[in-house]
Amino acid sequence: MDTTAHHAPDGTFRNPWEISQGDAELRGRIREVAWDWITGDHPPDPEPGQLPAEEPELAPAPEAGARVTWVGHATTLIRLPGLTLLTDPVWSERCSPVPFWGPKRFVSAVPALTELPAVDAVLLSHDHFDHLDRFTVTALHRRFGEGLTWFTPLGYRDWFRRRGITRVEELDWWGEAELQGYRIVCTPARHWTRRTPWGTNRRLWSGWAVVPAEADPAMDSPVSSALPAENPTPPAPRLWFAGDSAWCPAFAEIGARLGPFDLSLVPVGAYEPRWFMKAAHMTPEEAVRAFQEAGGAGIMVPIHWGTWRLTFEDPLEPRTRTRAAWGEAGLDPGGLALLRHGETVTVGGG
Ligand code: ZN
Ligand code: ZN
Repeated sequence: MDTTAHHAPDGTFRNPWEISQGDAELRGRIREVAWDWITGDHPPDPEPGQLPAEEPELAPAPEAGARVTWVGHATTLIRLPGLTLLTDPVWSERCSPVPFWGPKRFVSAVPALTELPAVDAVLLSHDHFDHLDRFTVTALHRRFGEGLTWFTPLGYRDWFRRRGITRVEELDWWGEAELQGYRIVCTPARHWTRRTPWGTNRRLWSGWAVVPAEADPAMDSPVSSALPAENPTPPAPRLWFAGDSAWCPAFAEIGARLGPFDLSLVPVGAYEPRWFMKAAHMTPEEAVRAFQEAGGAGIMVPIHWGTWRLTFEDPLEPRTRTRAAWGEAGLDPGGLALLRHGETVTVGGG
């Protein structure tokens, strides 16, 4: 893949794959979708009890293992040996520019922000309000200050600087940085960005992979291949957070370069109406396929569902369809961690 094809000549970003032609035309029909949203019949909100929350397990990761807690939507707390991360942290009740309007949570974020252990870094996928929330960003900065590194795709540095945050690692697709013994790699995704009507695709979107720094199968320099084969691999898990993405031909390459993953966080919700959402979000069936294409190893944690009503499908449907798609694909039933809000899955370790 041409590593610069997602940079448009005017300085904005674009999806570089053949299948993404027509995305701009789709965005032009956003009014049509907005009209259906206002006038159409929608499946009801989940009943209390249909989305029960759990007590999170906030203890550090076991040796050589990992813990992932689903806080809600795309927000997860990840504990690896020596590294604690958050993905797309949103603790606000509503995902919107203002606190009094916008989709309201079905289930509160668990754990509460004040209960979080010390967090080393945030992995941000893009600027949509269900992923980048200024109230949460400010609260995290107030609590952790310079101890917290913000990993973002290209185009976010100024947004963070306006909030007094300077410890930002801004990376392009396949760019990487090292933190506390891990490589943090910015991975491609098929999506788009906009927080203001005039800001379409001025910032990049991405996923993230986190792999032990020393174990580096992608690096076949003469130096590394000259190392003895028994060179010990550090006992730490490999992780992929897919961000917000439509199905994308890059998934296989991500798996080949950075896998096999022990943990994959893959979005499964916000896919209807299909004709419109197919350029931005995966169906549960596509999400399972994405997991398989990225190597199909370890555990998949479905994210981006059951928290806010953002699109037309029944908010509980992603859960049923993910389970069904997993079974249909003949995957190991133990490999699907369809978590409740607040629930923690522990992988590996003693
Ligand atoms: Zn998005
Ligand atoms: Zn989203």
